[in-house]
Amino acid sequence: VKNMGKNSISFFTQEMKEEFLRRINIEKQLKRALKHQEFKLLYQPQFEMKTGKIRGFEALLRWFNPSLGFVSPVVFIPIAEETGIINDIGEWVLREACSQYKQWQEQYHFNGIISVNISPTQLKKQDFYHLVLKILEETGIPPGCLELEITENLFIDALDSTKELLNELIAIGVKISLDDFGTGYSSLSYLKSLPIDTLKIDKSFIQNTSVKGVEQEITSSVIELVRKIGLETIAEGVEDPQQIDFLYHALCDNVQGFLTGRPKPADEVAYIIKKGK
Ligand code: C2E
Ligand code: CA
Ligand code: CA
Ligand code: CA
Repeated sequence: VKNMGKNSISFFTQEMKEEFLRRINIEKQLKRALKHQEFKLLYQPQFEMKTGKIRGFEALLRWFNPSLGFVSPVVFIPIAEETGIINDIGEWVLREACSQYKQWQEQYHFNGIISVNISPTQLKKQDFYHLVLKILEETGIPPGCLELEITENLFIDALDSTKELLNELIAIGVKISLDDFGTGYSSLSYLKSLPIDTLKIDKSFIQNTSVKGVEQEITSSVIELVRKIGLETIAEGVEDPQQIDFLYHALCDNVQGFLTGRPKPADEVAYIIKKGK
């Protein structure tokens, strides 16, 4: 920023400068984060509504950097996407989640699902299908236990090639889940044409369903329609018992949220698996 003189108003506020420098720094640190083993995964349980049993776990990425401290994925994932670093990070996440699953399977006969978030950038890379195959082979987990969470914006461009790729993954048994449903563009009728197995109803829908009202009505008709299309439903961001009660009556298949379980490190998950059997 040029020095514009003592009395002129600087174009950048101090805050903007700091924000800019922080971003540059995040980018710099992100490039070495894998090598320095700064990532770890937490796992958040998903429960079947009918049985109360564990459906599976969603792997959620955490980054702790010695100079930046804890950085939220909400902050660093977009930067990793823009810079392309997400491809390497995403590969690490997939491999780590699958090998962790293998351990749970061997030690506790766990046979639920492991859900992994996949960024559009990763899916658009040429060899994504082969990467998934390779990691399934390496770790030896059943393809049917792996669920890939994708988002609606993936379909905005390259609709046909994206569908083709997802169909190839489904053909080998991998499950596809549509994340954050309700925050994007797609209409309910459009959903029918997408190669997906599961739909995660965004927390913005769930938030205001603790009390009777129009929000409950909207959310329950969404669940009803999604069920009619034949997709499995997961409610995200469930935070209170009234919401569970509502979702139970709305026939939502699964719940995930702080109420039923926060994201936890792998060793604590072992305890939940043993208890939840
Ligand atoms: P998401 O995939 O929608 O993940 C759910 C987020 O909601 C997680 O935030 C989770 O901790 C949080 N959450 C769970 N239950 C509740 C609840 O009851 N109430 C509220 N308010 N929040 C709840 P987190 O871990 O900070 O992740 C944020 C986002 O970062 C994720 O949103 C996802 O889009 C992205 N992300 C996380 N890990 C990965 C990853 O490995 N790869 C990619 N590509 N993206 C990731
Ligand atoms: Ca997700
Ligand atoms: Ca989500
Ligand atoms: Ca999200």
